[in-house]
Amino acid sequence: MYFLMVLGISRIRQTHPPKTFMSPFFPSLPTKPGPGRAVVREVGLRDGLQSIATVLPTARKIEWLDAAYAAGQREIEVGSFVPARLLPQLADTAEVLAHAQTLPGLRASVLVPNFKGAERALEHGADLMVVPLSASHAHSLANLRKTPDEVVAEVARIRAQRDATGSRTLIEGGVGTAFGCTLQGEVAEGEVLRLMQALLDAGADRVSLADTVGFADPASVQRLFEKARALVGERLWCAHFHDTRGMGLANVYAAWQTGIARFDACLAGIGGCPHAPGASGNVATEDLAFMLERMGVDTGIDVPALLVLRQRMADWLAGETLHGTLWQAGLPRALAAAVANAPATLTAQPL
Ligand SMILES: [Zn+2]
Repeated sequence: MYFLMVLGISRIRQTHPPKTFMSPFFPSLPTKPGPGRAVVREVGLRDGLQSIATVLPTARKIEWLDAAYAAGQREIEVGSFVPARLLPQLADTAEVLAHAQTLPGLRASVLVPNFKGAERALEHGADLMVVPLSASHAHSLANLRKTPDEVVAEVARIRAQRDATGSRTLIEGGVGTAFGCTLQGEVAEGEVLRLMQALLDAGADRVSLADTVGFADPASVQRLFEKARALVGERLWCAHFHDTRGMGLANVYAAWQTGIARFDACLAGIGGCPHAPGASGNVATEDLAFMLERMGVDTGIDVPALLVLRQRMADWLAGETLHGTLWQAGLPRALAAAVANAPATLTAQPL
């Protein structure tokens, strides 16, 4: 799996610097500068489900996984190794991960808030574990009960444990509240960059930046991602945006223009953060995939299939607030017809 991931990285590198690329789904104008391929990493099974009251049964999560996989998604965060008493919604993470591991080529990741969670991720052979760090000290103390630098020290312990066990589970340091925080207000760019570098120095394989509470705007995204990329290059792995104030997709576009080729998203835009008052859902997977494909960026995702899955999810999560826009209007009619008439090989092209 590790080597497959390396191959995946090199494929993305090959398409960067940007080139003109025509999507097989939605032939459109040539793209502006930005990677010709991008990965939409589904995080709804973790970020989404942890923030809503409904506890989705394991069988439904597995249906979700299977359908997302069938729609072409190849990176999915399946849950979090946290004590069940804290997040009963994610108590079955090991079981969901085990199912994900039966799907060929799927890179299944989990979130781990501490060393204990990391031990479980290693034990269960996750492809990747995301260790969250809040650049905001106030958010870090509220959410993780640790200062950011204590989290960095924890990552060093996790790396040592991984090396001791000979595991190939990759470690991603996820720097959250990178654009500000509801509790603390401003978070200095210099502090975000310092912590990002510290995570890598401590042994993280890669890092990502998250706008946990929806404070980012396209200009601040462009500025911070450019600086981050200049500092750590390709080890800047993923962008994670919440759509709290309606700027999620604009922020994705700004990050994509700086060369980012991987974005977290939740089907139907579910999600948020229980410790960040006011935070709401992630960018909606189906809207994001549609935007990228429409721009000519290959995601390997069958957007109509995602819309069908969203419809099923609306039944599973009856009573919960769902988000997203594409489902309301549907695909533009001419495009929908083109998709319906496309050869089967064009309806799902996994990355
Ligand atoms: Zn999030």
